[in-house]
Amino acid sequence: MRDTLVLNASFEPLSTVTLNRAVVLVLQDKAVVEQAHPGLRVRAAAVDIPVPRVIRLCRYVRVPFRRQAPWSRRGVLIRDQHRCAYCGRRASTVDHVVPRAQGGQDTWLNTVASCAEDNHRKAARTPEQAGMPLLRKPFIPTPADAMLLALGAGERHALPDWLPQTA
Ligand SMILES: [Zn+2]
Repeated sequence: MRDTLVLNASFEPLSTVTLNRAVVLVLQDKAVVEQAHPGLRVRAAAVDIPVPRVIRLCRYVRVPFRRQAPWSRRGVLIRDQHRCAYCGRRASTVDHVVPRAQGGQDTWLNTVASCAEDNHRKAARTPEQAGMPLLRKPFIPTPADAMLLALGAGERHALPDWLPQTA
């Protein structure tokens, strides 16, 4: 569920993110809560913050005027947060859902992060042929989505070249 609105430092709306991701951005001091659900708090170990409805990034980020982020292997790993689409463990490779041998292309919707083991096991088969269902559907990230994912992951160094850097 993507239920928290993210504003740029300039207050311009950028995108929406899940509550989890919004909380991570706030806890990492990358964003501040602009508007919270009245009376609701997120409480864990050392954490106690209002449940954000709207957060605002602390630093202005430049988002290129593009509808869609160009595909790259690195971008797929960041989109999927380095989680294998088949088993959920840490992923370091990119798998073609419809294998290239069967005409699958290098596109956002046809590629997922995968652990080396599952990538090898699936080989040149579709998830159906291999009996390996996808845990989640691949999606096409907007440049703002991709940037927010990278920010939340605390992997600024891992930003793909095509992503804007924070000013
Ligand atoms: Zn796996």
